[in-house]
Amino acid sequence: MNYFNGKTVVVTGASSGIGEALAREFAALGANVVLGARSIQKLQLIAGEIREKGGRAAYCGVDVTQEAECRELIDTAVREFGGVDILICNAGLSMRALFDDVDLQVLHRLMDVNFWGTVNCCKYALPYLQRVRGSIVGISSVAGLHGLPGRTGYSASKYAMTGFLETLRIENLKKGLHVMIACPGFTASNVRFAALTADGSQQGETPRDEAKMMTPAEVARIVARGVRHRKRLCLMEIEGRATHFVKKFAPAFLDRMFYWVMAKEPDSPFK
Ligand code: NDP
Repeated sequence: MNYFNGKTVVVTGASSGIGEALAREFAALGANVVLGARSIQKLQLIAGEIREKGGRAAYCGVDVTQEAECRELIDTAVREFGGVDILICNAGLSMRALFDDVDLQVLHRLMDVNFWGTVNCCKYALPYLQRVRGSIVGISSVAGLHGLPGRTGYSASKYAMTGFLETLRIENLKKGLHVMIACPGFTASNVRFAALTADGSQQGETPRDEAKMMTPAEVARIVARGVRHRKRLCLMEIEGRATHFVKKFAPAFLDRMFYWVMAKEPDSPFK
């Protein structure tokens, strides 16, 4: 895959889970990587490890809800490596609460991180991406393909991301911009620990068996392949493919399946 050699890849949410794995994967494929997240010390550590292996990495502390900080992230890529070829909007936050009970601030927070974080980074990376017919990747979710009960704000933010990115793709049809929406299923990471509950506090535990999930490294490899082939939609495992397919022909059946699967979680907010 020397396609990535010398290309510059910006990854948000690179301090943990899928984003960290994406940064490591693209660096191993020869790309310059620019890592963004709020935990600067973790970024410093990961970038250091990438460099020790002969890779090229820079990092920038960024809260993606802050437009000016997203501009600084893109400026870092331009300053260090001369531009941006691939932007991966991965920074994300989840939730677990029934809409009946949830404080609406939780939904605002999810929209701020997942949707506005994507918009903010795209805004400042776009001119550089247009110059090189580059790629934007939105890390969505199976919850961005069909509503996931207990995650109204999460599903809504991922659907919003999709609407935004699909429109950006069409607006840039003649400029050769590639836009890919990637939809991982359950992946072992910190996402469920950090997820917000009804009152906005962190869940602090996972209701699922993380050992049975895909690993972030597997997701990163599939995303890299998708970018290489300039795919529009990147589905990863049976959950994603089945959801995409069944939704077309039997959406009501899919509603019942999603209800049944999520109601089985320990302490599910619905039964
Ligand atoms: P993690 O919780 O492990 O990682 C989330 C990352 O997002 C961290 O690096 C975190 O860094 C960063 N982040 C959170 N809030 C902000 C913010 N305001 N500004 C900047 N960075 C932020 O979760 P995953 O790796 O699992 O999640 C990555 C993406 O994958 C998310 O978009 C998620 O929705 C999606 N996804 C995950 C699935 C899963 O099962 N794991 C399934 C489907 C999709 P820091 O705290 O340092 O800022």
